[in-house]
Amino acid sequence: MEIRLVGTGSIGAVQSSASTLVNKKILIDMPNGIVKRLKQFGENVLNIDIVLITHLHGDHYFDIPFFILEKYFYKIKEKTTIYGPKDTARKVKKLFELAFPGEYKKVMENINIEFKEFKNLENQKLKDNIYVESVLVDHGKCKPAYGYLLKENSRNVGFSGDSKMCEAIDYIVQNSIVSVLDMSFAENINHAHMGLHEIERICDKYKEKTIITTHMQDYTRNEAKNKNIKNLIVPDDGQIINI
Ligand SMILES: [Zn+2]
Repeated sequence: MEIRLVGTGSIGAVQSSASTLVNKKILIDMPNGIVKRLKQFGENVLNIDIVLITHLHGDHYFDIPFFILEKYFYKIKEKTTIYGPKDTARKVKKLFELAFPGEYKKVMENINIEFKEFKNLENQKLKDNIYVESVLVDHGKCKPAYGYLLKENSRNVGFSGDSKMCEAIDYIVQNSIVSVLDMSFAENINHAHMGLHEIERICDKYKEKTIITTHMQDYTRNEAKNKNIKNLIVPDDGQIINI
């Protein structure tokens, strides 16, 4: 599995908000500005036909209208499926209407976008040999919020989405070779995200696993890099990791 950390920052960071591209065709989260970011890294946005949204905070889905427009401009008729929590389709429509009043119906009639809102995905086939399992995580007041396990030939990659430390994070790490985890803050100052101290504890507890951090504030990124933890990768936007 090839994963590209397209965005690794949090709101307010220099680098783009958290988003990961898997095998060039599956995108996990679509934060503001990520369509342009994908292009900067030479990725073909039109090839992305599966989108997995972790939760409905703006820095995880506000670029969907621009993604839809891209498919419309190039008259792409092949099906694109957007997985997300309940209300994803309604909120995207509202966002689109706000951005481009009166255009949504016409645009959607000319392309093939399917929204799949779910409560639970249990080994749902996405494409080729890739399956997904959703994991309910704890992102404070934002409910539901999901993490994902992507499975390809029993080599799983985990994604926490936004979450504080909870049993679901242990589950994701235990069941993956590599996990991409929220590390927003250097100290544990927020009750809806993990911080560097928690990531250090996870790296120590699961020494045989590789942890990749994302959703980082600039100072969190710098502190984490300076720690030189053996099984921790602190990526910059655009980094590719093959698993
Ligand atoms: Zn969030």
